[in-house]
Amino acid sequence: MQDIFTKENFKCDRYCGQCCIKLSVRISKAEIKNIRKLGYKEEDFLERELSDIPIFILKKNRKGCVFLKKHKDGKHSCVIYKNRPKACEQYPFFKENNKVGSCLPDKMFPGAFVSFSK
Ligand code: SF4
Ligand code: SF4
Repeated sequence: MQDIFTKENFKCDRYCGQCCIKLSVRISKAEIKNIRKLGYKEEDFLERELSDIPIFILKKNRKGCVFLKKHKDGKHSCVIYKNRPKACEQYPFFKENNKVGSCLPDKMFPGAFVSFSK
């Protein structure tokens, strides 16, 4: 039987980075301000989502989110972990009492390009 994860029992223990590699994170003005306070320039971490309305997302490079760091053992971590956007903090749960069968983007959003926000 497949496990079902909830906020209470979920723990990211693979550090595979797939969520930060494959998904795009929408970011609020307050979150942009918080990251700027850490010394990052907007042009280095922010880009506009392809839409008519001004929605901003975290910039990505060919390795995923610009804040994702890959370690020698293959595991990943977030260099702004304590200041990461709310959406990252909540992942993979987007609603109260949400349940998921997997946190892997390919399983959660098969074939889709998804941007998520809090
Ligand atoms: S996809 Fe899941 S296991 Fe991999 S880093 Fe993200 S939360 Fe952790
Ligand atoms: S800010 Fe951190 S947690 Fe959020 S997508 Fe980027 S690397 Fe992942």
